[in-house]
Formats: sequence, structure tokens, C-alpha cells
Amino acid sequence: MSIAMPVPNAETLAKRERIARALRAIVPGEGVIDAPEALRPWESDGLTAYRQPPLLVVLPETTAQVSAVLKWCHAEGVKVVPRGAGTSLSGGALPLADAVLLGLGKFKRVLDVDYEDRVAVVQPGVTNLAITQAVEGRGFYYAPDPSSQIACTIGGNVAENSGGVHCLKYGLTTNNVLGAEVVLMDGEIVRLGGRHLDSGGLDLLGVVVGSEGLLGVVTEVTVRILPRPETARAVLVGFPDAEQAGACVAQVIAEGIIPAGMEMMDRPAIHAAEAFVNVGYPLDVGALLIVEVDGPAAECDFLIGEIARIGNANGAVTSRVSDGEAERMAFWAGRKAAFPAVGRISPDYLCMDGTIPRRRLPDVLRRMEELSEEYGLRVANVFHAGDGNLHPLILYDANVPGELDKAEAFGADILRLCVSVGGVLTGEHGVGIEKRDLMPEMFSDADLKQQQRVKCAFDPELLLNPGKVFPVLHRCAELGQMHVHHGALPHPELPRF
Ligand SMILES: Cc1cc2nc3c(=O)[nH]c(=O)nc-3n(C[C@H](O)[C@H](O)[C@H](O)COP(=O)(O)OP(=O)(O)OC[C@H]3O[C@@H](n4cnc5c(N)ncnc54)[C@H](O)[C@@H]3O)c2cc1C
Repeated sequence: MSIAMPVPNAETLAKRERIARALRAIVPGEGVIDAPEALRPWESDGLTAYRQPPLLVVLPETTAQVSAVLKWCHAEGVKVVPRGAGTSLSGGALPLADAVLLGLGKFKRVLDVDYEDRVAVVQPGVTNLAITQAVEGRGFYYAPDPSSQIACTIGGNVAENSGGVHCLKYGLTTNNVLGAEVVLMDGEIVRLGGRHLDSGGLDLLGVVVGSEGLLGVVTEVTVRILPRPETARAVLVGFPDAEQAGACVAQVIAEGIIPAGMEMMDRPAIHAAEAFVNVGYPLDVGALLIVEVDGPAAECDFLIGEIARIGNANGAVTSRVSDGEAERMAFWAGRKAAFPAVGRISPDYLCMDGTIPRRRLPDVLRRMEELSEEYGLRVANVFHAGDGNLHPLILYDANVPGELDKAEAFGADILRLCVSVGGVLTGEHGVGIEKRDLMPEMFSDADLKQQQRVKCAFDPELLLNPGKVFPVLHRCAELGQMHVHHGALPHPELPRF
């Protein structure tokens, strides 16, 4: 495993019992977990190749408790890692040996739903799907729909700026969050945004969304809710290979059609998903597009016809339109279960996340196949094709010595490829630890320094979620005096990770 974490602070480790006592006074009852065996379930997140039991876990239930916990940790110089459901695929919620893991799982209430303003105010531990479930009785829903929506929390979605199959048309989390209550590392409680589309001053809410738990702890979120479209229809379009499917995606968008979702799966992913959920995916194609359109019925019919026409022009060999709501949901069930389905055909996999300009899909997919052969590791592709957001799943076996390192090197090459064609390191899973050391591939020294200055403005002691996102985290006072060029530092003797 190539990604190193900060060396634990011996002083903090030595005062573990005192920390537990102090936090129990703030969150009494079962709010603090410190027995070694009870810490095991918390040692990893969705990036399961990495694990580390936390110093201890604290599970507050109120914003006042979060504030008091952070204030105490701030005064004592103790690090804190915020955590929602622990489904992060980039290791964002990976615990540290010398940090308190602050779980938001008890913040489970939907506080208010206002259909006139079309907003819901929820606590951060509410799952993504539970927001829709709270409003669907009145014909509303919350649009961003990560495949993990049954488990992941809205707090985690805000921290990662999560996406999902319907974000092509309806935007990512950042486009659907209007306000948040955030507790800063020194315990101060601030409110950003509100119930309206814009607020005066700097867009600090925009800064916090996607900040991966590095700037503050989100304790309340106001989201937009939307009325369910009158009709939604999905079509499965099969192609001999992924390049033709990629060309079809590019043409659909170029012709001015923005489907509600447009997802692609390659042959290994189609076979794994079909074996898992049995929804009738064609098994004799090299790539499958699932395209959904929504709106008035007549518009949907027209768009489905247009998509079929564009599919045929790009060599489609199969096409099947959903016949009713049950079948539409079945089409999506395979896609949404694709990650666990791939987990059944390989002992382990690494899920990568990078974004490229749509028109580069065919050549990036071709190069990925070459890399797969060079590394001798299989890759299954399941991704948000309409957004150009790739999710190559690299299959490996952690029990084979060196195979994880090989998978990580393959993943890093894929992300470098994304950047080299004008794309970005992440689409929706965040940087976490997974892509931390690749940040200089994409950002200049000046970019990284400026991002760190924002971190310093919120958390000058660098106590919140250290070791994530920034390849080198300097004391704020020193910032501006270091020159980082492609990861090569002028002062190698300074501690870094
Ligand atoms: C099978 C599977 C499918 C997935 N599919 C998708 C997908 O389609 N789209 C997508 O975008 N992601 C997807 N993910 C990734 C993951 O579900 C998202 O990143 C999700 O938003 C994480 O939410 P969580 O509650 O699990 O957060 P965690 O994993 O607990 O934490 C994630 C990050 O958020 C921070 N954090 C959590 N809560 C708070 C808070 N209240 N305040 C401040 N910081 C906080 C943590 O410190 C960490 O940095 C998938 C994951 C899995 C396992």
C-alpha cells in the first residue's frame, strides 16, 4: 500500500484515557466508544484496502455537543475525523490512530419540509434515500442519487459533493443544497446560505460543499426538493464496443438532448450485474447504455425516438425501451448494484473516479484497455457517461503479494490519463487519501497553496481530517514559503506525509 498517513502524535496517544473521560462528560451514556474490539467496525470506509482503528469514537446527538467536542479537542490539540456512513470510496473517512472519529450517525431527523418553498431541512445523518422517502408521498424527491443512496448520509454527500445517475440533468449536491449549519474546529457554529437560491457575500456554502470534512462539521442541511416528473422512461442501447457507445453519448449531447441520466457499462460489468440482479441486460454486446428521459409523456416519446436514431447511427445492435415503471426501475437496479456485483467476480477491486471531456471517451476507453493488458489486471467500467465521469473498477486479489500496489499504480495511470486529456482527478468521490498524492498532477504550486490558505482560514491548527486531500500539509504560518513542484520539496527534512 503506497499511501502513507501522518505519524501519530505520541502525546495524544498517551492521554487517550483523559480524552475519553472528557468526551464522556460532553456526550454521556453510550456516546463514546473506546474498547479496542468495539473500535474494529470503524477502522475502514469504502476504500477497504486501508484500515486503521481510531483513537476513539464519539457519537454526539446535538449541535451543542458537536460544538463542545470540537472546542475541547481544539483546546487540547486533538485531531478529529468527521464521519457519516463510512461509504467514501476515496478514504475520506479513514480514521487516524491519534484522532477522535466524530460519527454523525445519530443526527437522523428530517427537521422540516416546506413544499411551498420546495426545501427540506435535515440532519446530516439522514440517508440520501430517506430524504426522498420523506417527501415522495406529496410527489416530490431529492434529485442527486448516488448508487450508495440507501446507506450514505446527506452530510457525507455535502462533504464529497456527491453525484449520481440523475445529476446529468439535475446537478450535483452543490446544485441542490441551499444552506447548512457548520461547526468550526474551535466550536463556533455558523450558518451558510439559507432557503433561497443565492445569499449575499462570498459563497462560503460553495466552499464547504466538497470540502471533504476539512473545513467544518456539517450539522444541518437545507436541500431543494423537486416535483417528480410526469413521466420517466429508460432505454437500453447495446453496442458491439465501448468506443461506439462513447461516440453515441457524445452525439446525444451534441444534438442538444440532456437526458435525465446516461450511464454506460462495458462487457465485464454487464455480465457481473446481470448475474447478480437478473434484469435482462443483453449479454452479447460489448457496451450498454442506459439512457433515461423524463418530463411530459409526449416529450419522452420524442426523445426516446431521437436517442434510438442516434444509437443506430453509431452502430447500436440492440435497443429496449422500459415498459412501465417496474421495468424502468429494473434497468436501474442492475446499474446501481454494479459495484457489489463486480465484488462477486473478484476478491477485491479498486473503484477509480475521474472525469474527462465527453468527446475523449472513445480514446480514453481504448487506452484503458491497453493499460489493463500492460498491468495484467482486469478492469470493469461502469460510469456516468453523460458527465464523462469514469468509474473503472480495477480487479485484484489482496492476498497476492504486490497486487494491490499494482492495482494502485494502474489506477494512478488512469487518473493521469484523465488529466492529460483535459479532465480532472475526481468526478464525485473526492480526493481523500486515494488521490491525495496525485494532486500535483493537476494543480500548480500556486493552486495548491491557495487551497491550503482556505483550509487555514477555517482550521488554522490543521486538526480537522489531516492527511486527506493535500499531499503536503504545512503549518499555516509557513504557508507561502514552500515551493512544491511535482511533489519534489526543497526541504525534505520537514515532516510530511
Ligand atoms: C457501492 C457504492 C456506490 C457509490 N456510488 C456513488 C455514486 O454513485 N456517486 C457518488 O458520488 N458517490 C458514490 N459512492 C461514494 C460515497 O457513497 C459518497 O462519497 C457519499 O457521499 C459518502 O457519504 P457517507 O455518509 O458514507 O460519508 P463518509 O464516507 O462517512 O465520509 C465521507 C467524507 O465526508 C466527511 N463527512 C461525513 N459527514 C460529514 C459531516 N457531517 N460534516 C463534515 N464532513 C463530513 C468525512 O470526513 C469524509 O471526508 C459510492 C460508494 C459505494 C460504497
